[in-house]
Amino acid sequence: MLVTYNVQTKSEFMHDITQQVKEAVARSNVQEGICIVFCPHTTAAITINENADPDVATDFLTGLNKAFPDRTEFRHAEGNLAAHLKSSCVGVSETLLISRERLLLGTWQGIYFCEFDGPRQRSFHVKLVTD
Ligand code: ZN
Repeated sequence: MLVTYNVQTKSEFMHDITQQVKEAVARSNVQEGICIVFCPHTTAAITINENADPDVATDFLTGLNKAFPDRTEFRHAEGNLAAHLKSSCVGVSETLLISRERLLLGTWQGIYFCEFDGPRQRSFHVKLVTD
């Protein structure tokens, strides 16, 4: 089963998509299996991290901006190479485990769609595979 979601993003933001992915799993009737969340963009990413304290998501972006600043020596004409670097380093997909029709996420874990070059109309795919 494949489900595609659209996201209207902000300029740079960690969009919590945990509930959407959980709903896709619930609708799939997959009891035991794998859930792949994939983002088909070159300046966005998918990650799993804490969603209890919202400061973590904010600090995540602050840390990435420190690690990947815009540099004058970048040649990419679009001017968003830092966003491309963040996308590749964070990664465009995550693989999750499904057991007893539920995602095996840790207590503090949430799934994020990471926008590094918005605002844009984006999408992500959720693929559910039965054991
Ligand atoms: Zn670009």
